[in-house]
Formats: sequence, C-alpha cells, structure tokens
Amino acid sequence: MQYKSFLIKYAEIGTKGKNRYLFEDALIKQMKRALKNVEGQFVISKESGRIYVDTEGEYDYDEAVDALKRVFGIVWICPMVQFEDRDYENIKKQAVAYMDEVYPDKRLTFKVNARRGDKSYPHMSEEINRDVGEVILNAFPEMKVDVHHPDVLLHVEVRKKVSIYSLMIPGAGGMPVGTNGKAMLLLSGGIDSPVAGWMIAKRGVKIDAVYFHAPPYTSERAKQKVVDLARLVARYSGPIALHIVNFTDIQLYIYDKCPHEELTIIMRRYMMRIAEQIANDTGCIGLITGESIGQVASQTMQSLLCTNDACSLPVYRPLIGFDKQEIVDISEKIDTYETSVLPYEDCCTIFVAKHPVTKPNLNVIRKSERNLEEKIDEMVAEAIRTKEVVWCD
Ligand code: ATP
Ligand code: MG
Repeated sequence: MQYKSFLIKYAEIGTKGKNRYLFEDALIKQMKRALKNVEGQFVISKESGRIYVDTEGEYDYDEAVDALKRVFGIVWICPMVQFEDRDYENIKKQAVAYMDEVYPDKRLTFKVNARRGDKSYPHMSEEINRDVGEVILNAFPEMKVDVHHPDVLLHVEVRKKVSIYSLMIPGAGGMPVGTNGKAMLLLSGGIDSPVAGWMIAKRGVKIDAVYFHAPPYTSERAKQKVVDLARLVARYSGPIALHIVNFTDIQLYIYDKCPHEELTIIMRRYMMRIAEQIANDTGCIGLITGESIGQVASQTMQSLLCTNDACSLPVYRPLIGFDKQEIVDISEKIDTYETSVLPYEDCCTIFVAKHPVTKPNLNVIRKSERNLEEKIDEMVAEAIRTKEVVWCD
C-alpha cells in the first residue's frame, strides 16, 4: 500500500484549554522542519485534536516516517487512507478495499473501532462498527472478529473527512520544541552530554550548546566530533548554535596557580561560569550537563555542590540518577553513540590529576581560586570575546 496521508496523534497533557493552539502550532512547525529534507511534497493541516500530513506525488515513505519519529510531541504516526465522500456505502467500500490491500494474508482477526468526530453524522459509532465489520466478513470469509485481542484494530474516524487506519507507529513523545524556554547545553565529545541535551529538548526546550576546547592539546578532529554530535542532536531539537570556546589559557593558568588535585573541579567551575555568561547573552534560562551522581570524581555529591556553586542559573542534569548503561542505551537509540566513542582527546582528561579530590570542600576550592584573581576575569572575558559560533542544523 502506498499511503498518501498520515494521521498524527499527540499527547494532550497540559495542553488543554487556551494554550492548545500554541502546542499544535509548535508541533506543526517542528514537523515541517523534520520533513524539509525528505524527498517529496508534504502538506500539514490541523483539525481539532488531529494533525494530518498529506503527500503530493512520489515521496520516500521510510524517510518520512523516520523524520516524523524524531519530532517531539508526536505520540503516534498512523499511515492512513482519507477521503471526502462520507456516504455510508462509500465508507464500507473503502474499509473493504483497505483491508484487502493492507493485509494480503486474510487469516486474521479484526475489530472495527469507529469514532464520530462530527456528532451530526447520521450513523452512530456502534452502528458503524457493526456494519463495517459485516461487510468485511462478507468480503473475506477467512477473517474473523475478535473484540478482545484482535490482530488488526481498524480505526474509522468520521470528521469533515473520513480516515481509515490500522497501523500505529510509536512517535518520540515529549513536547514540541519551542513550547518551553531555551537552555545552554555543555556539550563535550562524550556519551553523556548529547543524551542530556536530547532529554531536555524532549520536554519542549530549545537548545544551544557550548564546547570548551584546548588547542593544541585537543585536536581539530575532537572539535569536529562535537560539531557532528551537535548536528545529531539537532535532528531532534532543531538547529543548535554551538559556541566553541578556547579554554587553553585558562586551563594552563589554573594548572600553574592551583593545587593539581583540585584542577578538575576548578576547571568545571570556570566552564559553568563561562557557559552562564554566554547563556545570559543569548536568552538561555538554564544550563544542561550530562552529570550523573558518582560517575567520576568530579560528579560526587561534594563535587557537584562545588560545581553548582559557580553559577546561579538552574542547572538541569537529566541523567543524574542514571547508570552508565542506561545512558548508553539512549545514546544508541538516538544515534549519537558511535560518534561519542570515537577516541579523540577531551580537554578534561589532558590536565587531569593522578589523584583528584573526590570530596572537595567548597571553602578550600574558593580559597584556591583566589590565586587566580590577578588575571582570570580578563581571561574569561577574552575567551568569550574570541569564541566561534557554528550553526548546527
Ligand atoms: P560526557 O560523556 O558528557 O563528556 P563525562 O562523563 O565525560 O560526560 P565530565 O567530563 O565530568 O563527564 O563532564 C561532566 C559534564 O560537563 C559533561 O556531561 C558536560 O555537560 C560538561 N563538560 C565536560 N567537558 C566539557 C567540554 N569540554 N565542553 C563542554 N562541556 C563539557
Ligand atoms: Mg567528558
């Protein structure tokens, strides 16, 4: 069956009432973005509680479904047959034709599930269930009705048009990007931060990102890897402005002036400070990191306390309670894993101490940072001034 249309079902949680149109419009905008690069012509329309995608001419079905699967806010993608002629006999005829074409092997059980979106339609849902069921049974004697566990649940929706569908492909869930604020993701080349960004974008949040690199200690390839990861996340979240900050001088300065076992924590605090400044300059109202309690020395509760203390914007850490394997599973699902495990150097690992503190004391850390007073503000300002922005779409 070459489907010409799709019925898109979305979650309605928190979107009832006045704000519903905002949610629908954001969803349609994201669907258009996702379908932009798919071969074919797509027309998206809405009708109370439903969004339809109509195709014109040839199009790539698999690519279109994959694109829609990446749109947050969609719960089900249903390839369907839709027609305007609501004549009762026509509906029956179309239902039989649908079953014939979609299910060449007729040895199956089914149930008709009719719904009248338009309550003025002269036939009740129960009546449609019965009558459509009957014509299908008459046309295909091998088929049987099973009202409890049917192989095929045939939906017949009567609205301005009639929609018939039985396939329901799970969507990404969540909320459409653009229905919430914007946040700044601290994106490294690792496994965790792309997953963290994906998770927050899934809640409708628009995302920008910041990456700290340390040339010549970190290579051009390591930077390209982060650009690639941002592009992979952008397939779900929409375009990401990636701010690339040269962190080398700051790292060397900290290395020179502070105890080596505190290096990672102090570095992380400067990352948060710089990320916060860029966030404030670009309209982001939160930071996102890939931290998870206890994963490494810099992510113990004590370390997180010290990192958190360096900024005042809320820091969203969606992976905080996840085990590594759970994070890996998501990264595989969203296709970032293979890029994340490419073995390029990371600025955090280059200057890392042999025995980093695992229970840093905030007062001690603050005191160590006083050694930086002479130059650090100017260095931070310089790092922000000289940052490069890559548009990842
Ligand atoms: P990831 O897999 O995301 O790199 P990680 O397990 O390597 O995380 P850390 O290196 O301690 O953990 O980093 C913790 C978080 O700090 C990362 O998830 C990321 O949000 C941020 N971060 C670390 N290094 C960088 C960097 N070079 N640029 C931007 N953000 C970074
Ligand atoms: Mg890392």
